[in-house]
Amino acid sequence: MSKSGSKVQEAKLELYRKKGKIHAKAASGRFNTLRWAVVWFTQIIFYGTCWLSWDTTGVTRQAVLFDIAHEKFYVFGVVLWPQDALLLAIVLILAATALFFVTAMAGRLFCGFACPQTVYTSIFTWIEAKLEGDHLARLKLDQGPMSARKLAIKSIKHGLWFLFAAWTAITFVGYFTPIRELLPTIPTWSVGPWEGFWLIFYCAFTYAQAGLAREAVCQHMCPYSRFQGVMFDPSTKNVTYDAKRGEPRNIGRHDSKAGDCIDCGICVQVCPTGIDIRDGLQYQCINCGLCIDACNQVMTKIGAPIGLIRFMSEKEVAGAVQPKGLTQRPRVAIYASLLAVFFMLGAWTLADRSLLLVDVLRDRGSLHRETAEGNIENAYTVKLMNLAEAPRNFIVTVSGLPGLAIVGEQEFAVAPGSIRPVSMTVAMPDSGEVRGIQPIYFHIAAKDAPDMAVQEKTSFILP
Ligand code: SF4
Ligand code: SF4
Repeated sequence: MSKSGSKVQEAKLELYRKKGKIHAKAASGRFNTLRWAVVWFTQIIFYGTCWLSWDTTGVTRQAVLFDIAHEKFYVFGVVLWPQDALLLAIVLILAATALFFVTAMAGRLFCGFACPQTVYTSIFTWIEAKLEGDHLARLKLDQGPMSARKLAIKSIKHGLWFLFAAWTAITFVGYFTPIRELLPTIPTWSVGPWEGFWLIFYCAFTYAQAGLAREAVCQHMCPYSRFQGVMFDPSTKNVTYDAKRGEPRNIGRHDSKAGDCIDCGICVQVCPTGIDIRDGLQYQCINCGLCIDACNQVMTKIGAPIGLIRFMSEKEVAGAVQPKGLTQRPRVAIYASLLAVFFMLGAWTLADRSLLLVDVLRDRGSLHRETAEGNIENAYTVKLMNLAEAPRNFIVTVSGLPGLAIVGEQEFAVAPGSIRPVSMTVAMPDSGEVRGIQPIYFHIAAKDAPDMAVQEKTSFILP
């Protein structure tokens, strides 16, 4: 390429890098297809799951609902209570460890493919491209003076963005308030104060982040991009320009010393964060692979092998051998082990969680009571928590002292997912052999589900 041609090229690239909003050229290829597959997959799950219903013992409820007001999280057949906070903590640790593992393996792969910022920016940019045209048409429209056409196009675009952001906000809030109850309250704005706040906030947040801020979030706001480097090891694969093969660029394909890069700048034009990957690894790079798609097309056109830009590790760049097993990559091995441990811990916690919780409180008002029949009585309040989604009858018995028995009713019905406090009296004959404070046990078992059983220790006071 000539010197003047290079200057024009450089000027063109400047448009994408520094002149305000980035209008990336559309890319096509393997990574672009994969990105859109992830967009479809994640969004079908997000927008669709809140409409699924779950039938449980004749009652139909929303399949996935985070009912904060009633302190219950419903996830299909599983109902999580505040007592299941450990499980929630394990899920969060598992998600963080999975992110570390993926980052150690292939850099910011999550950012480039599955991060909500990337996903929504892709959708908003798609709407923009449908209305305003390709990247050059969008650039021209932005730089041109205001006209009736420009005003109309921009108004429709912002209107569609707003509608999409509003639907996203309704869906989001619909995971906390049943969406079928929420939706009819929106036209008259008879939503509750918290629903109203989150609807407005999430709508504005989506509109501003995905429509207005876009790549600036990845470049300047995202804290993850700043510390992701600590998870890398020399074998972490990142989108990398093969400088050995590409340089010297811009001399012409007929020169035997020329590299394969023809300095066409297309890899920069397609980059959603507006960087030039040929400048080396940069924190703004989200590993989306669009520059790989673009450069592969250029290489195919000029008859050179594809892969001038590809996923490469520091080791591969230096010509060293990429380790194959995890044993040679301690950091990745640690993340993989943690992932396996937390997965098993989560599965075990879920499988082992009891659907019956019991609290036994001794009545502090009276120490003990002596009856005319010669018995000693203590009073208790027993809180029966039925975490199952079916009604249960629980049988309560006591043990620990000779002749210890419950006075009165021993069987209690508890509605699904509810707590029933019951007052109980426990008595034993006063033989005079046992004195003071003695340990005793309450045994509670479901009548029709013998594996649902709990034992609680408490004390019995004698004169
Ligand atoms: S797309 Fe490929 S050939 Fe074109 S400038 Fe980028 S690296 Fe060079
Ligand atoms: S440099 Fe390539 S991989 Fe990195 S953000 Fe830009 S297009 Fe995506």
